[in-house]
Amino acid sequence: MIEQTLVLLKPDALQRSLIGRIIQRIEQKGLKIVGLKMLSLSKEICKEHYSHLLSKPFYPSLEKFMTSGPIIAMVVEGPAAVEIMRQLCGPTDGKKAPAGTIRGDFSISTQFNVIHASDSLQTAKIEIKRFFKPEEIFEWKKTLEDFTFSTEEA
Ligand code: UDP
Ligand code: MG
Repeated sequence: MIEQTLVLLKPDALQRSLIGRIIQRIEQKGLKIVGLKMLSLSKEICKEHYSHLLSKPFYPSLEKFMTSGPIIAMVVEGPAAVEIMRQLCGPTDGKKAPAGTIRGDFSISTQFNVIHASDSLQTAKIEIKRFFKPEEIFEWKKTLEDFTFSTEEA
């Protein structure tokens, strides 16, 4: 099934000039970027986005980090996009994330782990709405013959 998921490149990814290398991995896997913007995360939206973590002792530090500089938000589309993006990211803790995953290759921290991806299809729908208006998400077809995926798989 063709799915859409929300991906955020966190402030550390921008500070460390990792945007291009991270986006390259998403594209080379065959997933399609159908929405993309740079923004500053407000404390209010951060609280909403990480509502499941509000009571954790690390929340204040997470909010400080996530609102410390601009982020990139993307809507990423493809077959099983939610699960594939989570696999590409790897586990939360960069120290434990396997080499070959984005966090495994670019992070050594539990907090400064460069990327967010929605954890389920249900969460993805809510998170996409949080960051994108419908008209900011684009329908476009790959027109080359060597499709990495085709809409027939929908
Ligand atoms: N986080 C943190 N300390 C922790 C666990 C998580 O600072 O002990 C941060 C980290 O940036 C993580 C985010 O909170 O990516 C959201 O946590 P979650 O458990 O949802 O992990 P994710 O879904 O991002 O892997
Ligand atoms: Mg999560």
